Formats: sequence, C-alpha cells, structure tokens
Amino acid sequence: MLDTLRIIFYPDPRLKQMSSPVQVFDQSLRELTARMFELMREHRGVGLAAPQVGKNIRMFIMNATGKPEDDKVYINPVLTPGDDSAEGDEGCLSLPGITAQMLRAHQMTISAQDLDGKPFQQTEAGLPARVWQHEMDHLNGTLIIDRMGPAAKMACRRILRELEEKYEKRNKP
Ligand code: ZN
Repeated sequence: MLDTLRIIFYPDPRLKQMSSPVQVFDQSLRELTARMFELMREHRGVGLAAPQVGKNIRMFIMNATGKPEDDKVYINPVLTPGDDSAEGDEGCLSLPGITAQMLRAHQMTISAQDLDGKPFQQTEAGLPARVWQHEMDHLNGTLIIDRMGPAAKMACRRILRELEEKYEKRNKP
C-alpha cells in the first residue's frame, strides 16, 4: 500500500497544514520512513518531510551526503538556533523548478526522537542546519515561496501557475 505513496506538489492543501505530533512509534512509522527514503533518493533530494507525501505528522528525514549510513530520521523535532545567519540557495521537491535564496540560521541544535521514540540532540552548521530549518517549515505548513520577497516570487510566477494548472487537472472530478 505504501508503494502508492508519492511526493505531492504545490498547491496541494496538505502542504499548508500544521502537522500533529507523532505519538505511536510502530512498524507503520518505520515503513513510512523507509518509503520516504526511497522517494527522496529517486528525486535526488537531501531532505523530505512527511507532509510532502501527504502525511501531516511531525517527522522528516535527511541525508546531506548521499551515503546510506548518513540516513537520519527526526521525529517531533524542536530547533534552537545559534546567533549567526547565512544566505543560501534552496529548492523543494514539492516545488519543482524553483530555487530561492533563503536567510537561515547558520548553526542549529535539534532535539528530536528516533524511530524507537528515544530522544536525542544534535548540533550542526551549514547544509544540515539549513535542511532542518527547511523541513521544519514543512511541519508548520510553510513553503519557501511563503518566505520569498515580492520580486523573487514574481520571478517564479510562471512556474507556480503551471503547477497550479497541473494540480487542477489532476484533481478534476
Ligand atoms: Zn521542501
């Protein structure tokens, strides 16, 4: 059944929802996570949040290096930023064709739970810290286009309209 799970795209309303905490750490959560890693690799992403496969729960995955041993799962994450910030390019698997300069905290500490529900903490700077902030936004229903200035948003207006038309076509009764 999880084989039918797909990445969903803007403007699917599930991407705008606030996701709920994970309360049960069971086999179905493991299977969901495994399927998300498959999808993330297929689409060559470095991170993927559960809402992006239509599941509004507070969980995301990341692999910032491409090595299998660097697969990471973060459940019910909480972020604590460092003092410095940095600009960097971000894309999103739910917004194909769009890249934007985003100002993010350079360093971040994350507190989360693993697949067994065990709490852990991790501090990173640079790309992993950026991915955490991007994926955390997904759990709160925020996309990079919501953080863009008017000029940047204007520049990708055509791509957004195409995505909106595709969505309407797919969801026609
Ligand atoms: Zn994204």
